[in-house]
Amino acid sequence: MKRRSADATHCVHAGEDRHGRLEPLTTPITQTSVFIIPGLDELRRYAEGDRNFYLYSRYGNPTVKAVEDKIAALEGAETAVLTASGMSAEMIATLAACRAGDEIVSMLDIYGGTVKLFEDVLARCGITARFIPYRDLGKAEHYFTPKTRMLFLETPTNPTLRCADIASLSAVAHRYKACVVVDNTFATPILQKPLALGADIVMHSATKYLGGHSDVTAGVLAGSKKWMERARELMILTGGCLDPGCAYLLLRGLKTLQLRVERACHNAAAVADALQRHPKVSHVYYPGLPGHADHELATRQMKGYGMMVSFELRGGEPAVERFIQRLKLWYLATSLGGVESILSYPLLSSHVGLSAKRLKSLGVTPSTVRLSVGVEDAADLIGDLEAALARA
Ligand code: PLP
Repeated sequence: MKRRSADATHCVHAGEDRHGRLEPLTTPITQTSVFIIPGLDELRRYAEGDRNFYLYSRYGNPTVKAVEDKIAALEGAETAVLTASGMSAEMIATLAACRAGDEIVSMLDIYGGTVKLFEDVLARCGITARFIPYRDLGKAEHYFTPKTRMLFLETPTNPTLRCADIASLSAVAHRYKACVVVDNTFATPILQKPLALGADIVMHSATKYLGGHSDVTAGVLAGSKKWMERARELMILTGGCLDPGCAYLLLRGLKTLQLRVERACHNAAAVADALQRHPKVSHVYYPGLPGHADHELATRQMKGYGMMVSFELRGGEPAVERFIQRLKLWYLATSLGGVESILSYPLLSSHVGLSAKRLKSLGVTPSTVRLSVGVEDAADLIGDLEAALARA
């Protein structure tokens, strides 16, 4: 370069409004990794433990904070910590509650990734887990020892949508001074508030309903200031922060959470009812059906029965394959919680590779199909399912 140019300075500074003159209605994406520090006083305050200003986005960011505050309000929590994914939230919650030599009690029916995290990853840190089969939840006490520091629950479960009694299991855990963490991904805070039922920390894969548009991977923990301070420190030190751009997508998705949940719940109930009357369907799992094993508990514990429906299709894997090929509106995809209705085949996705014994105890068969019901028109969704069932 021959002569000095202001371009280098322009590239960095021109056009940036750093003086708060704009008053946008929406919370903007504060896409920065670092913040200007007004002076050494602020650094001194930070060194003394004052966290009421922004320094570095891994520690905290205004767009991320807006999402944390919104989720804390929804969960009835003092505060929340946003994380890079649901798995990251689980890792952080576990490390906040446990150290080497401690034990976790959980359920056999939780998300497969969580089982692997506890069995393969946390075991390497000297933290061991015991998993209660659903039928033994009433005897949970037998799984606790003086070393148990965390009870990890997920309810409703995947894919048979069984429910765990958060209040009574929390009471058992608290007798052992164990921290109760509830994965509230399937229910959302609109339908179930675990903290009000006795849990200490509520956790989400925000990738699912909280985001709601299948375009963001994120996680969150919410609870008391005491627990969240530990969680934030671990989030910062393990680098599990969420990018502000993703936080913005989550913020936008959350604005319609109540509307989406209400609509999808209504659709799910209609879908469950239609499937239950279909001759090619041998069983429907939906907590809203009076015949579901946990209908009474779900009625007591939840404000609605959820947006997930699973069923057993007569004819096993070949029938499931024909059914999926004939669907026009429902897509095969291994997630849930978006506005679009999708289905998954647990045997080859969430539960792939599990032993026949474990599959049996989880109630997963080659005929099990799981639906994540979206917000489309219920009649269109049912029409497409019925057309595909007719040719399965
Ligand atoms: N918890 C549940 C119930 C899930 O279904 C999932 C993912 O499918 C997770 C946790 C993990 O979340 P993520 O994929 O956001 O890391």
